[in-house]
Amino acid sequence: MLVETFLRKQLRLKAHTVKQVEETEKFMVVHIDRLGGRLLRCGVCRQRCRKVHGVRKPREWRDLSMRKLPLKLRYRPRRVECPRCGVRVEDFPWAEPWARVTTALSNAVAVLARELSWQGTARQYALNWKSVATIVKRAVDYGRRHQKRPPVHVIGIDEVSRRKGQVYLTVVYDLERRVLLWVGDDRTEEAVRPFFTEELGTRRCRTLQVVCMDMWAAYAKLVREHAPNAQILFDRFHIVKHLNEAVDAVRRELWRQLTAKERTTFKGTRWLLLKNPWNLTDHQKERLSTLVRWNSPLVRAWYLKEAFQLFWSYKQPARARVHLTKWIHSAMRSKLEAFKKFAQMLRSHLDGILPWTTVRVSNGAVEGMNNKIKSISHRSFGFRTAENFIAAIYHCCARLPLPAER
Ligand SMILES: [Zn+2]
Repeated sequence: MLVETFLRKQLRLKAHTVKQVEETEKFMVVHIDRLGGRLLRCGVCRQRCRKVHGVRKPREWRDLSMRKLPLKLRYRPRRVECPRCGVRVEDFPWAEPWARVTTALSNAVAVLARELSWQGTARQYALNWKSVATIVKRAVDYGRRHQKRPPVHVIGIDEVSRRKGQVYLTVVYDLERRVLLWVGDDRTEEAVRPFFTEELGTRRCRTLQVVCMDMWAAYAKLVREHAPNAQILFDRFHIVKHLNEAVDAVRRELWRQLTAKERTTFKGTRWLLLKNPWNLTDHQKERLSTLVRWNSPLVRAWYLKEAFQLFWSYKQPARARVHLTKWIHSAMRSKLEAFKKFAQMLRSHLDGILPWTTVRVSNGAVEGMNNKIKSISHRSFGFRTAENFIAAIYHCCARLPLPAER
């Protein structure tokens, strides 16, 4: 088989043909031409057009490589007269109208960009970083327009930081399917509202049953406003994080009051308090007990933390409520500022904490996805803009369909 015939078949050309394949030092150039008088299609609506208006200057498209040599398609696009759209550039079966690479190459790039950084992907296909960025953003646009949108019942709203915690994005997951639904630039009420009004819309908001989130007023307000029937559930992992931060705050306060000699003994003990007691070695237990003897505030903090954690095993709402109320009471009397604050926060959010006894879901189900987003932000220095970072998150976590090759 001639290489021309092979390429014509591979490119699935019908109204076009491969005239000649030319080998240069850097590329294989595939010269494409019209095939006889076959009808060309309109580049806008893909309608077949009878009349050709003119020939434009040659254009080139990068394609996948042939062995080591990158392939380039070269063709002089025709302008056709479409009965619906008027005079337009024809439709190319090998590429999208805007693209400078073929659909086959852009899909290969998009698939690799789900695993690698944009820089790494660019290097692999001898493209520049900007081309990869364009391909990914176009793929995301296409995927968002063509994705299936089944009803959602249980969602998790979370925030991810960009640029070392200075800027936040809001991410929304479908906790049943464990897939990313939406990303918003910032975590304010205005920034997240489009998720309910545009992404879900009134009809799909009605099917929401549970919304799992951190104790963040803006999110809760939006849920009450747009999905009043959904149960707000404050996320277990976030609550535990706040609890650990309270223990940490007590330790730091104590540290400030200690003398230099005492400090040496203390060094590196912070993690002892964050560990589960049954995971400690004998040596660690001994260090912990010294620590405990010296630090009655820390003992109180530690005890409070352990007592609080019992809440998660309750299955009866009434008993869970009693436990939590008692706990809040003792935390308020603990003389530990951080715990008083934590207890106050719990007290004002009880409505969204107690449902845990009956609705056992948490954003922990998508922790893997959150880690993936973190690794996306670490592996690329190209995400100085939120737009690029958001595109990369959708691309890696939303399971979007890629454009089909025609
Ligand atoms: Zn048309």
